[in-house]
Amino acid sequence: MIATKAYAAYNATTPLAPYDFERRTPGPHDVQIEILYCGVCHSDLHQARDEWGGSIYPMVPGHEIVGRVIATGNHVTKFKAGDLAGVGVMVDSCRTCKNCKNDLEQYCVEGMTGTYNAMERDGKTIAQGGYATQIVTDEKYVLHLSDKLELAGVAPLLCAGITTYSPLRYAGITAGMKVAVIGLGGLGHMAAKFAVSFGAEVSVISTSPSKKADAEKLGAKHFIISKNADEMKACNSYFDIIVDAVSAPHDFTPYLNLLDVNGKLLVVGLPTEEPKVSPFSLITNRRSIIGSMIGGIKETQEMLDYCAEKGIVADIELIKVQDINNAYERMLKGDVKYRFVIDIASLK
Ligand code: NAP
Ligand code: ZN
Ligand code: ZN
Repeated sequence: MIATKAYAAYNATTPLAPYDFERRTPGPHDVQIEILYCGVCHSDLHQARDEWGGSIYPMVPGHEIVGRVIATGNHVTKFKAGDLAGVGVMVDSCRTCKNCKNDLEQYCVEGMTGTYNAMERDGKTIAQGGYATQIVTDEKYVLHLSDKLELAGVAPLLCAGITTYSPLRYAGITAGMKVAVIGLGGLGHMAAKFAVSFGAEVSVISTSPSKKADAEKLGAKHFIISKNADEMKACNSYFDIIVDAVSAPHDFTPYLNLLDVNGKLLVVGLPTEEPKVSPFSLITNRRSIIGSMIGGIKETQEMLDYCAEKGIVADIELIKVQDINNAYERMLKGDVKYRFVIDIASLK
């Protein structure tokens, strides 16, 4: 077994605190990774605080994991010691259902195995995430990383990156399409970067006037304050695509009204309360609402390779693991520019 230091949530209400546990000894297909950086996703906070229900404790959050391979099992072919490697939101799936076979493991019929807050497929081990010094994962669910990019900024690509890249690709974004992003947080700023890189005309719809300059720096042409009725009205039926990356409860109707004919609201944000959707807003302009969960392993690798080619990384604020509880509070206030990343050296 491999001694691992971590930070864990012990229950839904007390701050995360140090936690020591053991990872399995690498099996024939496993890769042992020394974690260097781990991004902080709003899903970590939702789950640590049991906002979605059913949380498993103690919980080591973290599914934006990058590090270096230190050992491999006998049958591992994709990795060798010394390679950079990443682990995202899932670490296993059934591998045999139609969705797994179609590179859509995130929609595994049996349910994917989450990187944390899940049981491993042995049914008895709690899967633990990346606020930790080590992880051991089957090579099939481990990603190759480019050494050309700044590694701390690569970590958020493993969740925020693929979660926004996948639906934007699915929606077929092409040059000149009008794309809006709601919520300039971790996911939102990656959505803006990808949409700009695909040649779209990008707008940001935000609750935070202070983010205007940053939105423009990201390449946004318009910056709209969602609480300003006049600004919203001016965008009526304007956009082809809107990416909803908001973590807090909100209704869909005011955003649906901004979609042109055949416009699509791509929903990735996961607040707990159900949104209001006006059927009248939906039928007008034949609008649709499409949900999307992370991306398959093949598409995640494609996204990482695309980022390496285009020089795309997340804009990050590096923190020590000891600062994680404060980071969660700041995330709740929308005070993140634009992803916290934990320097795992602070755990050692
Ligand atoms: P984040 O960094 O905290 O960003 C969320 C943003 O939402 C904030 O920065 C803020 O942007 C906006 N916002 C906050 N409160 C709002 C309100 N009351 N009304 C409107 N906008 C508000 O969170 P994240 O890590 O990007 O995650 C976003 C959501 O996606 C979370 O719910 C997360 O669980 C979910 N998620 C889903 C998937 C998936 O597979 N679908 C994967 C990862 C995460 P402004 O300041 O610009 O308003
Ligand atoms: Zn995430
Ligand atoms: Zn499956």
